[in-house]
Amino acid sequence: MKLYEQFPISLTNSLSGKKEPFQPVNPGHVGMYVCGPTVYSDVHLGNVRTFLTFDVISRYFRHLGYKVRYVRNITDVGHLENDADEGEDKIAKKARLEQLEPMEVVKHYTEGFHEVLRQFNMLPPSIEPTATAHIVEQIEITKRLIEKGLAYEVNGSVYFDVPKYNESHDYGILSGRKIEELMESGRKLDSQDEKRNKVDFALWKKASPAHIMRWPSPWGDGFPGWHIECTVMSTKYLGETFDIHGGGMDLKFPHHECEIAQAVGANGKDPVHYWLHSNMLTVNGQKMSKSLGNSFLPRELFAGTHQLLDKGYSPMTVRFFMLQSHYSSTLDFSNEAMQSAEKGFKRLAQALTFIKKTEVPSQAVASDLTTELNRMATECYTSMSDDFNSAKVIAVLFEMSARINDIKSGNLTMDKLDATAFANFKATYIAMMEDVLGLKEETESGGSHLEGVVNVLIELRKKARTDRNYALSDKIRDDLQAIGVQLKDGKNGEMTYTID
Ligand SMILES: [Zn+2]
Repeated sequence: MKLYEQFPISLTNSLSGKKEPFQPVNPGHVGMYVCGPTVYSDVHLGNVRTFLTFDVISRYFRHLGYKVRYVRNITDVGHLENDADEGEDKIAKKARLEQLEPMEVVKHYTEGFHEVLRQFNMLPPSIEPTATAHIVEQIEITKRLIEKGLAYEVNGSVYFDVPKYNESHDYGILSGRKIEELMESGRKLDSQDEKRNKVDFALWKKASPAHIMRWPSPWGDGFPGWHIECTVMSTKYLGETFDIHGGGMDLKFPHHECEIAQAVGANGKDPVHYWLHSNMLTVNGQKMSKSLGNSFLPRELFAGTHQLLDKGYSPMTVRFFMLQSHYSSTLDFSNEAMQSAEKGFKRLAQALTFIKKTEVPSQAVASDLTTELNRMATECYTSMSDDFNSAKVIAVLFEMSARINDIKSGNLTMDKLDATAFANFKATYIAMMEDVLGLKEETESGGSHLEGVVNVLIELRKKARTDRNYALSDKIRDDLQAIGVQLKDGKNGEMTYTID
């Protein structure tokens, strides 16, 4: 019996708002698509939470024995500055401001994104397609939507006709928005507008002569709209109907709503069985945003260099902190919460180190303890299968770590333990920590030579800071980080580090 038959998954589908049993399109297989980053700036911590959610979900499916194809795209064209199909392309703007080729911007931030995910111990997706590598497919689907009367061309741009689609389908099926209300709210269309209706959205945009990112199309030179890339790349690699589509809550409308309309319009089929959305990260109760000055980057968090932070925290502490709440709840970041997460993670990690070295005894023992060990192991799985409740799993892991500490302290001797139950308990603890939650032991220091070298660099950095040479001090920190050494600034000027 496969683990997934033993512990069947139920998950909250944003489409129905209900918890539903998971039934894959192809038995034993899971197809999952997650909207990736627009690579024009550094990923912030809120993005990290979204990708972490789906990292753990894909890890759990795999652990249960499913064969998973996880597709996560890179948006390297077409994401405009606002949702009204106006403003500049985000990547083209960055390229113009920094006098770079758009592909230089894309490469730089894609590498940065991968680096951050690696630091947080996230596994790479099975396929990571880019929008610019799928221009042909985006043009094809746009042509099909025009043929079906669901899209129209104006001055070299093509728009999706939302009211037309809504005559025979339900625009708003995912987000619950009503088209009548959308038509009435906000500003009215004026004579300058190309769109027939204000709710319409771009499938293809004409490129002005100055626009550097451009491709030939039946409607002249231009570039694709943002929503269409995800419809193309998800259905190309997962089929016209696939299991799971994920993303941050902020993408539900308009992005995911538009994805449904495009796919249903073009293929006549609902593209996705289960929509999953991860909730936001707040800081001291406030939404994280650049303008409020409370948005920080992972490297600022590791190093403790942001003004809101008392000190730095290791990637695994942050990972643990995020998994302590269910993905569908908001998660509030504070120094107190981070400090308790640091302690909590350390406790679970120490128990992990210990239990890995603990031999399984050979005797069979029927006792309350045997029942308890089995109960805890089972509860890890039933909690995780219940809408991926990592918070509940962590609560059970704490219970388990108390037992492990009893063994460590000698309060519980090995002759009291049943062989089968303990083997199951041990395997489950290790599997939940490492394979499913993706938490790994962090070494506080490396070999003695490396330690010496890092300490020399820390002294140099202190000197640079005393000399107010912040460029040099930042360079030392960033270069060390690039090779896996995280410096953490303490409150009284003392500095610690971790090596991953
Ligand atoms: Zn998307």
